[in-house]
Amino acid sequence: MRTGEFGILTTQVSKLIEWGRSSSLWPALFGLACCAIEMMATSADRFDIARFGAEVYRASPRQADLMIVAGRCSIKMAPVLRQIYDQMPEPKWVIAMGACASCGGVFNNYAIVQGVDKIVPVDVYIPGCPPTPDMLLYGFNELQRKIREGIPNPPDPLKESGLKLLGPTEERPG
Ligand code: SF4
Repeated sequence: MRTGEFGILTTQVSKLIEWGRSSSLWPALFGLACCAIEMMATSADRFDIARFGAEVYRASPRQADLMIVAGRCSIKMAPVLRQIYDQMPEPKWVIAMGACASCGGVFNNYAIVQGVDKIVPVDVYIPGCPPTPDMLLYGFNELQRKIREGIPNPPDPLKESGLKLLGPTEERPG
């Protein structure tokens, strides 16, 4: 029976902020290969990622806090991927979607990065070739859980190693 009286809800400010962040992730508009088609399907009405507050794909990394690496990443694309990641404001998160992004997949060759965790810190890996939209949603829910529980990002692979990625137009050290 409804009495019309309000209860009292107590929480910590940090928990409230983490809940807010996890419920309003804005992914960067960024697809690399066939996995991106599944990522697009995740936004469509059948799967509807809007239920989790993440339907606002942003064309500018400055407005995004989630990078879904959907597809294989070539060596030539690696500096671009890193630059987009660097342009995203903190706090930010990365999902490696599919076998190619997670470990190179079937492309065990010199042209493909053997896992994007060599370039950016990856919070959630999603297996499969391609992973279905349901799998992406499951991975996304796992990321939300990590954010709500305050689990920090993994170490940045480039900061750890001190390496710098050079783009095609940048000067190489002599
Ligand atoms: S994991 Fe499969 S579907 Fe995804 S980019 Fe690689 S080859 Fe394409």
